[in-house]
Amino acid sequence: MSSQATSDIISRTRTIAQEVAARHASDVDARARFPHETFEALRQAKLLAVAAPKEHGGAGANMQELAGMCTALAQGCGSSGMVLAMHHIQVACIARHGRTSAFFRAYLQELVERQLLVGSITSEVGVWGDTRSSICACIRENGRYTLDKDATTASYAEYADDLLVTSRRNAEAPQSDQVLVLVRKADRTLTQTGTWDTMGMRGTCSPGFKMTSSGPEEQVLPGSFADASAQTMVSYSHILWSAVWLGIASDAMARASACVRAEARKTPGVVPPKATHLARLSSRLQLLRNSVHGQAAEFDEIMSRPTGMEELLTIGWGLKMNNIKVASSEMAPQLVHDALQIIGIAAYKNDSKLSVGRQYRDSLSAALMISNDRIFGKTASLLLVYKDDE
Ligand SMILES: Cc1cc2nc3c(=O)[nH]c(=O)nc-3n(C[C@H](O)[C@H](O)[C@H](O)COP(=O)(O)OP(=O)(O)OC[C@H]3O[C@@H](n4cnc5c(N)ncnc54)[C@H](O)[C@@H]3O)c2cc1C
Repeated sequence: MSSQATSDIISRTRTIAQEVAARHASDVDARARFPHETFEALRQAKLLAVAAPKEHGGAGANMQELAGMCTALAQGCGSSGMVLAMHHIQVACIARHGRTSAFFRAYLQELVERQLLVGSITSEVGVWGDTRSSICACIRENGRYTLDKDATTASYAEYADDLLVTSRRNAEAPQSDQVLVLVRKADRTLTQTGTWDTMGMRGTCSPGFKMTSSGPEEQVLPGSFADASAQTMVSYSHILWSAVWLGIASDAMARASACVRAEARKTPGVVPPKATHLARLSSRLQLLRNSVHGQAAEFDEIMSRPTGMEELLTIGWGLKMNNIKVASSEMAPQLVHDALQIIGIAAYKNDSKLSVGRQYRDSLSAALMISNDRIFGKTASLLLVYKDDE
């Protein structure tokens, strides 16, 4: 994709972020409701299927482009940015692992034409946040699958056209032998089992659900979830989520900058003391930005090589993906906290133009979205066998 087309995707997303997402963000947050207006605008602008390959009518957007979109949208509304990120992750899994299937090739075409929204259910009651483990099983009989799942957390499941769901490969398979199943809207029933009255990310609408589903067997993604997870889901999740957290922190920085500039205007020629704190915040935000952009660029560089998919299976890359997730999820709330200190009471008030309450609460979900402790635990065992020569 040319840089012209790249900036077009990101700048059109930025316009929707500013004109639609930001305008509704407070209401989405207050009522913990789905950001319908934003996703209708993205659908109308044909921005929902940009991760689909060009041969299926998509834009073939690379990681840097997708990350740029997620950051731009999260600057207007963190929940909208996160929903977009989760959707891109599912489309990438289908596009990168469904190529050998006529059904999934046709599905991608349909996704582009109808601008479908795809959600994810990896969580399950009883697996305690371990995405690489499922209790539910995909039962295949007479050309059809049946799959029932008790999910602890499923974002925008009620509003998604389709859901990509992890399960055991069959009733005999161990918990770690998983597949991804595309569960279409007409093939499922969802019974809500909990609430989503959370501190932040309220617009993702992610309560628990009991799902029952049955559909054509061809909707089981070829291959294993082990490969889809290692080669696609983890990389896309950790980079695009980080891009969302960068957007939230950038929004808080913008509010802090507006506050300091307003103060400077009151005393021309004098640099307000707060400006020094803003300078420190700016330098730390740059670290986060460089980290997200750099990791996205490295992913695209790896994928430009014929050996790319194999390189994503190395311990070195796995460590980088763990590291970017935990580092950016720890940095984002700290940056919003710094913005809060700079602005002061106007940032603490929920009804002020300079409020960072929503950004703060949204950013606190970052460390929980796949628990950082769980990721640190995995990194710790990898470091025992991996020697980093860089
Ligand atoms: C905004 C948001 C949206 C989400 N959307 C979805 C979605 O659409 N679909 C979906 O399937 N899921 C979704 N999730 C769920 C998410 O992906 C995780 O499954 C969930 O957050 C994990 O919940 P948990 O904290 O109970 O997990 P756990 O990983 O069980 O963590 C619980 C506790 O155990 C500790 N712990 C866990 N493992 C270790 C370890 N190895 N070492 C030390 N301590 C450990 C943790 O620190 C934590 O204190 C979403 C979560 C959030 C916050």
